[in-house]
Formats: sequence, C-alpha cells, structure tokens
Amino acid sequence: MIRVENLHRHFGGFHAVDGASLKIRAGSITGLIGPNGAGKTTLFNVIAGRLPPTSGKVFMAGEDITGLPPHELFGKGLLRTFQIAHEFGSMTVRENLMMVPAAQSGESLLNAIFNRSRVRDEEARIRDKADEVLEFLTISHLADQKASMISGGQKKLLELGRTMMVDARIVFLDEVGAGVNRTLLNTIGDAIVRLNKERGYTFCVIEHDMDFIARICDPVICMAEGKVLAEGTVDQVKNDERVIEAYLGT
Ligand code: ADP
Repeated sequence: MIRVENLHRHFGGFHAVDGASLKIRAGSITGLIGPNGAGKTTLFNVIAGRLPPTSGKVFMAGEDITGLPPHELFGKGLLRTFQIAHEFGSMTVRENLMMVPAAQSGESLLNAIFNRSRVRDEEARIRDKADEVLEFLTISHLADQKASMISGGQKKLLELGRTMMVDARIVFLDEVGAGVNRTLLNTIGDAIVRLNKERGYTFCVIEHDMDFIARICDPVICMAEGKVLAEGTVDQVKNDERVIEAYLGT
C-alpha cells in the first residue's frame, strides 16, 4: 500500500529522518516503534503531506505521492489522525464527525464551519453516517456532548471515528494510547482491529505501549536515529540486538 524509499527530512543540520526505507503492506496493522526522537512522527508528517521531504520518495499503491498536500492525500484515502483542534471543542461529538466530509473537499476547515449551507444540503445523510460511526465505536451516548468535555481516550476514539466518515484506505495513528486508561485502550484496539478486518483499512500505528502493539500489530517496524533498524513480528523485533541497544542507549 505504501512504499517509502530512502526518505530524508532534515531540520537545519539535524537529520530527523535519515534515509528511511520501508513498506506498509495492504491489509496490515503495522506498528512503528522506536525510542523518543527516532523520527517516527516526522516520518508520518512527511508521508501525510504535512512536511516536505528533504529527499526521497513515497508511493501509494505504486503511485508517486511524494509531497502531495494533505487534502489530496485525504481524497486518495490516506489519513493521519489529529488531535481534535481547540476550536472544535465547543462543537458536539456528532458535529465533529459531520464536519469531516466537507473538509475532504479541500476547502479549509474554517470555510467548512462557516459554509454551513453545503453541510445542510447533505445533512441527513451525513448525520446518519455519524450516528453509525458512533455506534460502531460504542460511544453513541456521547453524541451530544461537547468534544471538549469528553476524556482523552474518548477523544482518541472520536479521532478514529473521523476517519470513518470518508473512504479511508490507510490510516496513520500517532500515539493512540498516550494518557488513555487500559479499558479504553482495549476499546480503541478493538475498533482498529474491526476496522481492519471488516472494512479493509490498513493501519500504521505509532505507540509506546508494547502490550498494545503486541496485541494488534503485525508486522512491527523499529526506527532509531532516523533509520529503520528492524522489521518483523513483535517478538522478532523485541529480541533484535540492534533494537535492544537503541532503547538502552536512550
Ligand atoms: P519520534 O516521533 O520518534 O519521537 P520525532 O520525529 O518527533 O521523533 O523527532 C525526531 C527528531 O527531530 C527529534 O530530535 C526532534 O527534536 C527533531 N524535530 C522534529 N521536528 C522538528 C522541527 N520542526 N524542527 C527541528 N527539529 C525537529
């Protein structure tokens, strides 16, 4: 689904991504691990069009997508989840979902908020879809809550829900588990596995919680110092000497 070839992203003289090459297999839930500062988030940002690479290429299903802006990637079904922006906190959970299809058309999110007539045209259909998504994620009871009032873990589920409002093919999730309690983390893990199995989503997941990675990811890719160190099953990667060294060295 995704092929990254010899990708570099430098910040001044600092090589945050330093010649990374990797593949994300269609239909997989691929885990991306590595010590802090390994370049994982920067790699995500380059793939998802938020940062131009210094050099290197990114392909999606064979097509060169290097440097395409996020809304074009969005149109191709490549999504990266974001924290719910501050200005969306005063909207309800359902409204947060309902804004996504408008955003996909490439207009700015602010336009999408103010151009409510476009939203109104299709409102009933989009509303039904939002309710379906909430039911899938088992958070129907939060539909009318303000997004700023729900817990951190529930926000993560909402972020995942936003990807279900459009036809996603591959979703990049950054630290799904950060600050989320174990029960909710399991719910998030279940939702990812179900989206993968039932809707054919491919995932690439950055996460520090190795139990979570072990439960849902295969394969796992480990990065360190901007490069890919190892790839394999969780056990293979966990027992790889280079990986152990990279973690001990931090
Ligand atoms: P990870 O997600 O693996 O923790 P990051 O991709 O966030 O790693 O960061 C890799 C390195 O790049 C870090 O040392 C970080 O300080 C640096 N870095 C990331 N973004 C920037 C930026 N915009 N400007 C300068 N340095 C950056």
